[in-house]
Amino acid sequence: MSSIFTRIVEREIPADIVFENDRIIAFKDIAPQAPVHLLVVPKTEQYANVVELAAGDPALLAELVAVSQKLATEQANGEFRLVFNNGPSAGQTVFHVHAHVLSGPITEGSLGF
Ligand code: 5GP
Repeated sequence: MSSIFTRIVEREIPADIVFENDRIIAFKDIAPQAPVHLLVVPKTEQYANVVELAAGDPALLAELVAVSQKLATEQANGEFRLVFNNGPSAGQTVFHVHAHVLSGPITEGSLGF
């Protein structure tokens, strides 16, 4: 069974996609916690979380951070909070690694902080 984010990559379910290249896709979170709340996602579902991604493909993690910066500059003032939830008790619900990009401006309560 493919992850929900793979199903977005495959256009099996709709999303508001704001960026895509051969390795990464980004789209608006369905339940935004800030004025800008994007999910930046490697297309591969090989890595469940950022720890696995950092160990398995650090260049892809670096590219994900660069894409996050680009999108925060396009959609807000270039400053952003980058959140990776790691494990259910930390709030992770989708086990296909993804960065939350929150920006413009952040208020108390965003993602529980
Ligand atoms: P996590 O809790 O795993 O860190 O983050 C999962 C995120 O995916 C949540 O913020 C949730 O709102 C978002 N999400 C879950 N399902 C969908 C969906 O079908 N479409 C979009 N755009 N976001 C989703």
